[in-house]
Amino acid sequence: MTSTNDIRRSFLDYFAGTGHHIEPSAPLVPYNDPTLMFVNAGMVPFKNVFTGLEKRPYSTAASSQKCVRAGGKHNDLDNVGFTARHHTFFEMLGNFSFGDYFKEQAIHHAWTLVTKTWGLAPERLTVTVYHTDDEAFALWKKIAGLPDERIIRIATSDNFWSMGDTGPCGPCSEIFYDHGDHIWGGPPGSPEEDGDRFVEIWNLVFMQYDQRGPGDRVDLPRPSIDTGMGLERVAAVLQGVHDNYDTDTFKALIAASVDLTGVPAEGATQASHRVIADHLRASSFLVADGVLPSNEGRGYVLRRIMRRAMRHAHLLGAKDPLMYRLLPSLTAEMGAAYPELIRAQPLIAETLEREETKFRQTLDKGLRLLDEATVGMSAGATLPGDVAFKLYDTFGFPYDLTEDALRTQDIAVDREGFDAAMAQQKAAARAAWKGSGQKASEEIWFDLAETNGSTEFTGYGATAGEGQII
Ligand code: ATP
Ligand code: MG
Ligand code: MG
Ligand code: MG
Repeated sequence: MTSTNDIRRSFLDYFAGTGHHIEPSAPLVPYNDPTLMFVNAGMVPFKNVFTGLEKRPYSTAASSQKCVRAGGKHNDLDNVGFTARHHTFFEMLGNFSFGDYFKEQAIHHAWTLVTKTWGLAPERLTVTVYHTDDEAFALWKKIAGLPDERIIRIATSDNFWSMGDTGPCGPCSEIFYDHGDHIWGGPPGSPEEDGDRFVEIWNLVFMQYDQRGPGDRVDLPRPSIDTGMGLERVAAVLQGVHDNYDTDTFKALIAASVDLTGVPAEGATQASHRVIADHLRASSFLVADGVLPSNEGRGYVLRRIMRRAMRHAHLLGAKDPLMYRLLPSLTAEMGAAYPELIRAQPLIAETLEREETKFRQTLDKGLRLLDEATVGMSAGATLPGDVAFKLYDTFGFPYDLTEDALRTQDIAVDREGFDAAMAQQKAAARAAWKGSGQKASEEIWFDLAETNGSTEFTGYGATAGEGQII
């Protein structure tokens, strides 16, 4: 079996061998983009190179970039544990051309690596192109010899990438692997496309236009290439399994979680072990890159991820903090590729243990309150927003943890009611301060707190204005 570490290596070796500069992963906290919560694609560290703001001594590059998609435009948090292919933290393999090669070379590299170097059966592969991109359609035919019906034209924004309202943009082409008809799902563009049978493994973006304003799009003088392939997804394919959570890395983490809890990963408990394994990676890598749990911004997203995993550990019956005890398995799997994990190991362990100890003090009481509040509710019901708010405010349950806890019973949460309760509490706090006789300075303080986002809820990624990434 080819290990995930070997696959990462062979991807980078292929591109080094074809003249690409190999760039190490940038940290998860973007240094060049204050609008972005976390790096969520391989191209993010190269944004300014694509726009021409920054020059590098090379015109082609490849990387394996750490990514987190747990907030903002790309939020895969709710998918974790429930689809075979989504993580909050994952590695994106990518090759990039900054005004160097374009469509033909990009398709050639992708096809060669996937079918020659890695030996995937071409019959298993289907690609998409943007509906007007006749050039890409013809190149897939020529280079890959794919029949017309396996080059699917897609008219939606899934196949048109842009960096934002202005800037570089262009059509893209995605490669899908067919895991076989024993799994539910259909090819891209079909009514069953959301199933797990056809899994998107690689996205090739052809940056060929510059959007200068609404309706004002011109050709880029030197078009560029940006690609992204999920390492965990391609590892599943190359290891002959359908599910990312059955690959070597995840198997090791889940085995450690099974071992320490004494609960097998089957049926209802499988999702819990998966969530724990996934969130362990996200939490550990975020701490290694300098994020600490808090009630605002990035730290709040981290806290949500950690507490969600900790709720699942509790669900499995763990009597003591669990997450920090899984860390040695993670460093054994990934420490060689990411030495920052080993460097930060004591800090990560301490942060995980402290957070879990603190959270466990109120978790039981909160879950009891939740049980009482849902007595008599059946599938399709909605938990009132003020209950979700009390859980948040008194017991430290992030909103989506409450949502996650009710998911298996198919009970929704009244988000509007929750927001209203939150707004009311803020207003009450403000009014109370106003009564203290020092209006001017306190009002300034509240305004500052709000504009700087240092209120409890700025962590909610929905408001983080992330740019569009492949
Ligand atoms: P999907 O449609 O499956 O959600 P995507 O179109 O959002 O994927 P892209 O933004 O095109 O994904 O990212 C490039 C590649 O990164 C994808 O082709 C996939 O292999 C991988 N990828 C994206 N999101 C995730 C995730 N949450 N977990 C693991 N791999 C991912
Ligand atoms: Mg997605
Ligand atoms: Mg997609
Ligand atoms: Mg895609």
